[in-house]
Amino acid sequence: MDDVVIVGGGIIGTATAYFLSKEGRKVKVIERDPTYKTASFPLSLGGFRRQFFQKENILLGKFAREFIFQIPELLKTEKNPNPTASMVTNGYLLMFGPEHAEEQYEALKNHEACEAGTKNIKGSELSKIFPYINSEGIETATYTDNQSEGWIDPFMFHSALKSKAIELGAEFIKGEVKNISDIKAKTIISAAGCWTKELLKDIPVVPQKHTVFRVKCPKYIKEMPLTGDLTTGVYWRPEGGEYLAGSPNSVFDATDLEPAWNDFEELVWPALAQRIPAFEELKLTGGWAGYYDCNKLDNNAVVGKHPKYENVYMASGFTGRGLMQAPGIGRALTELISTGSYQTIDISDFSVERVLDNNARPEPYVL
Ligand SMILES: Cc1cc2nc3c(=O)[nH]c(=O)nc-3n(C[C@H](O)[C@H](O)[C@H](O)COP(=O)(O)OP(=O)(O)OC[C@H]3O[C@@H](n4cnc5c(N)ncnc54)[C@H](O)[C@@H]3O)c2cc1C
Repeated sequence: MDDVVIVGGGIIGTATAYFLSKEGRKVKVIERDPTYKTASFPLSLGGFRRQFFQKENILLGKFAREFIFQIPELLKTEKNPNPTASMVTNGYLLMFGPEHAEEQYEALKNHEACEAGTKNIKGSELSKIFPYINSEGIETATYTDNQSEGWIDPFMFHSALKSKAIELGAEFIKGEVKNISDIKAKTIISAAGCWTKELLKDIPVVPQKHTVFRVKCPKYIKEMPLTGDLTTGVYWRPEGGEYLAGSPNSVFDATDLEPAWNDFEELVWPALAQRIPAFEELKLTGGWAGYYDCNKLDNNAVVGKHPKYENVYMASGFTGRGLMQAPGIGRALTELISTGSYQTIDISDFSVERVLDNNARPEPYVL
């Protein structure tokens, strides 16, 4: 019998393999597509932030920053002596219209309680700090300027975690698990991303296709933060002399990953040009689509032991934030499995029982 088997070698499965291996557990990771063609993590925007409503998400975002800054020491291996995730610490800027302002003021109390280090300004003052932004319709905005938020290269992050997990003794195997009960192990972890329902039918996590566009603009603002305009749902960030911009539209249970090209002209470009006048001159240069692992109940993670099994744990439903939460979730699952409870960040409210009982706990700040 195996010690630990993790189904899914994406970012969550690999981060969990790293933390469990560090604790001396003998981990086997089963991944059906080691090229990760349709897995969520390589298709993500790589953002890490602490600007959320719920305390757990704020604290997991803080730990992401701490972990990412320590990659050179933590993930160094003989084969990979200089690991990096190509971190860019331009920060995040989230802008809210009058309809979301009250909720944001509530969220700020949680930011403060968690020492998130965010700054809040009135919409009318935005242009003092971000002179290229048209603040029309923005009531309030929150941002960081202390290198606490930004983005990384998701694939490099995954490679560094995987190399370290392997050095610590984890084994990565190509294979597809059809049924969770086919696995014989002391501890089983489902980290199957948006495909979780194939293994655990009672978990309401489904694939939600999101499109990202690559655009070019004569004016390149290298220092621009990852910016989310909550009045339209459009978000964007600089990338190698161009910009990436996400559509607010999504499609549930899409069977293909063809980008929703029409969204660019109909939705994304008008929203970008309205907010940043220089974006009038955009040119579309590419794009892609990827799946969010969306928890349809409340857009929040589902993590913990599945009560219907003796030895099955799971982590999924991150709804656009699984990359940044991977270190915190890997550590939390390791604590839960090793000691029976969470020792650092208490994420008991993300429990599997919560979704089985239909007890929604929505996180509103989904980009
Ligand atoms: C466009 C886009 C932008 C995003 N932006 C961000 C962002 O800025 N910041 C952020 O934190 N997150 C972001 N995300 C979300 C993030 O990518 C996901 O939440 C995260 O990748 C989930 O990780 P995972 O390991 O659970 O799933 P995945 O990365 O999908 O990995 C799951 C793996 O499990 C394997 N698998 C599934 N079933 C089986 C089985 N039965 N047997 C064997 N293997 C199996 C799959 O092949 C896959 O490789 C974004 C996602 C998208 C699509």
